[in-house]
Amino acid sequence: MKVLIIGGGFGGLFCARRLGRADVDVTLLDRAAGHLFQPLLYQCATGTLSIGHISRSLREELSRHRNVRTLLGEAVRLDPDTRTVTAMRPDETTFSLDYDVLVLAAGMKQSYFGNEHFAEWAPGMKTLDDALCIRQRLFTAFEIAETLAPGPERDSWLTFAVAGGGPTGVEIAGQIREVATRTLANEFHSIAPEDARVLLFDGGDRVLKSFAPGLAGKAVRTLQNLGVELHMGVHVTDVGRDGVTVTPKAGGPAEQYAARTVLWTAGVEAVPFARHVAEVLGADADHSGRIMVAPDLSVPGRSEIFVVGDLVGSGDLPGVAENAMQGGLHVAACVRRDLDGKPRRRYRYRDLGSAAYISRGNALLQIGPIRIAGFLGWLGWGFIHIAFLTGVRNRISTVATWLATIARAGRYHRAFMLGDRGVSEQPYTWSKDDSR
Ligand SMILES: Cc1cc2nc3c(=O)[nH]c(=O)nc-3n(C[C@H](O)[C@H](O)[C@H](O)COP(=O)(O)OP(=O)(O)OC[C@H]3O[C@@H](n4cnc5c(N)ncnc54)[C@H](O)[C@@H]3O)c2cc1C
Repeated sequence: MKVLIIGGGFGGLFCARRLGRADVDVTLLDRAAGHLFQPLLYQCATGTLSIGHISRSLREELSRHRNVRTLLGEAVRLDPDTRTVTAMRPDETTFSLDYDVLVLAAGMKQSYFGNEHFAEWAPGMKTLDDALCIRQRLFTAFEIAETLAPGPERDSWLTFAVAGGGPTGVEIAGQIREVATRTLANEFHSIAPEDARVLLFDGGDRVLKSFAPGLAGKAVRTLQNLGVELHMGVHVTDVGRDGVTVTPKAGGPAEQYAARTVLWTAGVEAVPFARHVAEVLGADADHSGRIMVAPDLSVPGRSEIFVVGDLVGSGDLPGVAENAMQGGLHVAACVRRDLDGKPRRRYRYRDLGSAAYISRGNALLQIGPIRIAGFLGWLGWGFIHIAFLTGVRNRISTVATWLATIARAGRYHRAFMLGDRGVSEQPYTWSKDDSR
């Protein structure tokens, strides 16, 4: 039996690993060569961790499973009748892969809610390209400000706008203030980096809506003490070279903020291939492109096609790593039960809680009725992230880097390349042909 897995994120990787001892031929196709640990992307973007800490070669990770091969390529077309997926190599040539079982684990991409032109000025936070693009913009902004005379232009380079008050927006906003007040504090002569403003915009009435109000309230106080300026109940309605326009959700005049660095964490939508799959299968999908599935995670009427992770639209499942990992393991179990002639089981997600980093020595941890903030939460947060980081070497070097960062204010992975304009390519398609 041939199992083809599209995507080597949490869902695809856990599925492939679990099938590593089964009597099946597994192909894992990913458009990136490595598994990315997205929960620590913001630490890579702000110079604490390197790209090597948060990503691991899929080929290396799966090399001990002789029945699993990994391929670099982007799935672009599905023919469900011939059970074939067409994939594109980085040089834009294509090749075909056939399957008996298809596992769609391709995840979500950043959504700009139809305003794709925002992406040029406001990188998202989903890929390594995004993290490196943000790192370049963040540190370059301070460098440019250092060369300018005091005044509005310099102030705009020292103003950072973050759209989206979920965990990612909160984490990156707090980190920028920490870079400004700790890492860079004594390094400049003309500017005072600690004067940098960080503005966080969200349409809701509070940040961190997935956390209990009491915990989120503690996070708000910590963020305010750090110097993050919270603007709730507003939508970012325009983004350009000079900053953002925000419009109150309740109505009223729009306001403009001059900020030469804008970061976007406000929404996600299905990757293009997932939308294509839903279309060719005639499968139901929600407005973000998440696909509705049967209780066993297969597409209704297509028992040979499964969807796992962030792309699952049924059952109000959260877009978290734990759901993707459990989904991947569940699908592997279904494949094994098919081989044994046993009926498949329904997927049951077990909520193991969530965590969010707020600032140095301060994080939130919510596990069922247990709610912890502050230093204890931070210890729990660190333990969880290290436990799930892929690769033993990555775990050891990440702990060592954290300890060094705690001991000294420095960030050891501030290096960035200039590129052309620091625009993240967001290469979900390598082809320039959008009609595909
Ligand atoms: C910044 C950030 C912070 C987060 N923090 C947390 C956290 O603290 N805790 C938590 O539980 N969750 C967190 N999450 C969410 C978590 O990372 C996701 O829920 C999880 O990664 C989803 O796993 P997945 O397998 O569905 O998709 P992904 O992990 O996104 O993997 C999808 C894979 O598919 C590949 N792919 C996409 N399209 C194609 C294609 N056409 N062909 C081939 N390959 C393709 C991609 O390259 C990628 O490797 C965070 C997410 C982000 C972005």
